[in-house]
Amino acid sequence: MKDLKISARFVKGVGPMRLKLLNRLGIETVEDMLYYLPRRYEDRSRIKKVSEAEPGRFETIKAKVLAIGDRTTRKGMNIFQIAVGDSSGVINAVWFNQPFMKDRFKIGDELILYGKVEETLQINNPDYEIVTGAKEGSIHMGRIVPIYTLTENLSQRWFREIMKFVVDEYADSVVDILPYDVRLRNDLMLLKGAIQNIHFPVSEIVLKKARRRLVFDEFFLMQIGIAMKRSFIKFDLSGHPHKIEGDLIKRFREGLPFKFTPSQERVIKEIEQDMSSPRPMNRLLQGEVGSGKTIVAIYALVLTVQNGYQGALMVPTEILAEQHYRNMGRLLKGLGIKVVLLSGDLKKIEQERRRRMIQTGEADIVVGTHALIQEKVVFKNLGLIVIDEQHKFGVMQRAILKSKAINPDILVMTATPIPRTLALTVYGDLDISIIDELPPGRMDVKTIYFSEKDRFKAYNLAAEQARMSRQIYVVYPVIDETKNSELRPAIRMQKELAELFPDLKVGLLHGRMKSREKEKIMGDFKDGIIDILVSTIVIEVGIDIPNASTMIIEHADRFGLSQLHQLRGRIGRGAHTSYCILICDLKGEEAKRRIDAMLKTQDGFKIAEEDLEIRGPGEFFGTRQHGLPELKIGNIIADRDIMEIAKKEAFDLIHNDRFLRKTEHSLLRERLKEKFDIESLGLSSVG
Ligand code: ADP
Ligand code: MG
Repeated sequence: MKDLKISARFVKGVGPMRLKLLNRLGIETVEDMLYYLPRRYEDRSRIKKVSEAEPGRFETIKAKVLAIGDRTTRKGMNIFQIAVGDSSGVINAVWFNQPFMKDRFKIGDELILYGKVEETLQINNPDYEIVTGAKEGSIHMGRIVPIYTLTENLSQRWFREIMKFVVDEYADSVVDILPYDVRLRNDLMLLKGAIQNIHFPVSEIVLKKARRRLVFDEFFLMQIGIAMKRSFIKFDLSGHPHKIEGDLIKRFREGLPFKFTPSQERVIKEIEQDMSSPRPMNRLLQGEVGSGKTIVAIYALVLTVQNGYQGALMVPTEILAEQHYRNMGRLLKGLGIKVVLLSGDLKKIEQERRRRMIQTGEADIVVGTHALIQEKVVFKNLGLIVIDEQHKFGVMQRAILKSKAINPDILVMTATPIPRTLALTVYGDLDISIIDELPPGRMDVKTIYFSEKDRFKAYNLAAEQARMSRQIYVVYPVIDETKNSELRPAIRMQKELAELFPDLKVGLLHGRMKSREKEKIMGDFKDGIIDILVSTIVIEVGIDIPNASTMIIEHADRFGLSQLHQLRGRIGRGAHTSYCILICDLKGEEAKRRIDAMLKTQDGFKIAEEDLEIRGPGEFFGTRQHGLPELKIGNIIADRDIMEIAKKEAFDLIHNDRFLRKTEHSLLRERLKEKFDIESLGLSSVG
């Protein structure tokens, strides 16, 4: 077996210069090279003639360079163009503003070109490769050829040759961690063959099988990690069993201004079961925006206080912390529960005073932002941690908060719901609860789209609502003027709208304000002193002001789909018809899809699925959020069937060998240690 951890520098043909370029691709070692997979493939056993290239399609053609030229347009754009041809015809390849292309070709070069053929019989910015002299049957010709994502100054041809060398020399030495029977049962290719064929496939069919094997490995490892966490949780009886019945929780229930919805009741049951058991709770609460997650969280917090513990509620913004704090003040009145708010920019003395209350146990419930995870914050006996809008926090932040307690119960909440099967895959180590109905009496939100030129109509519509004593949010993507930007910033627009509607009070809120200013503004808005609140994305999550019935989102194309949905979730919380007005011009396919989705549905699950599809799972989840290793090959949506199988195999395996002690699992154990933070497999099972 050869050592695959050696530097790529030892590969024949890689000098110091090229090594630097490889580093830029994230390649350090020979092993990195083996797992640096092609972006796409070209079937060069079936290359088209120039005359066969069909306009409107992506085609691969082989032809000779016949003429080279470039020119500059009146606006100063450089256009570089070559005419290429074979015995059947001539076609142009064109590059815009890349004058350096001129030095890349000479007349007579043989090229492979790949790109979309325009009606005008030209290909713009094609992928190309100079193949002069490459023989049929070489790795560059007459077969399925890999195309890699490369950086400037690395050519496909050079890289492919190096890769071929590496695969020939080292593929034999890859360590296969997959147990023999798992491989056999699922008809998976040998790892060595998979590596060889993912780079240099002998056929389409084998390529598919190669990919399936590599995707399986990736998912399998991830699921083994999840399965270990779960089994750890299952056998972990180190938590604090809570008593569910009690005077405090009874009085809390009786004092509520409304009845829980059936969904809320169900989730409360699930939480009670967790909290009364000696297993620490590890629960994810998913629920549509406005479905009433907060009150469920408060319920759990009261339970923990009833049992003599402290509870902590961490939220992503100060405005939200403030709101939850006020809310609790109202809902917990007369119960003798001391709630303390901890935010970032309190005066030092005040900060210290509150921290002392937390440390001595005088504080029963602590609400706060990231301020909660400061080193100086010490709890007396923290029993329950609630994290609201958990997708806004990283794994580390959650882990730090957890470390301030001994085996606490943990409840994380999110309003970016994903389908249950997917959630089980991604948040596999959490139990999942779902609130799938809104409190009664909610009105629909009417979502309307206006193009830029109609934006004054939108302002007028909003002003009309304001004059009927409703309140309005107007949201902008930026706070202040930025260079070279056509975006209207919040600061300027607050002034403009105030001038436009002198009879209305127009307020301003953004993330750069001091928290005391923010509190004041939110208070004034809540109390109806401010009619129109011009704001940035700071109001995205959690804010709950039922009288606000209209939201205008300017430059709506600048926001992500989940963000738009969250923003819209701020309205439609009262008894009036609400309007969400999206203003932007529709440039670009993705923006169109986002706006369409907003107009089509208000269902958070559907929105999330669409968002997932538009952005792809990598960006949607952001590995930061769930702490799982980044997926390089597999796609949890497109390859979900493979995920299912990998999951089953992984869970079975861990069921039979919890700590991977069997000899046939030792390689797997080693790999797992490399890929996962081993701590997180047992000791810290947060998200
Ligand atoms: P989210 O799930 O988005 O965090 P909130 O917790 O902010 O939703 O709840 C939205 C609003 O619904 C709040 O004003 C809350 O007081 C109210 N609410 C919650 N549960 C109920 C219920 N069962 N009946 C009536 N109103 C409720
Ligand atoms: Mg909320």
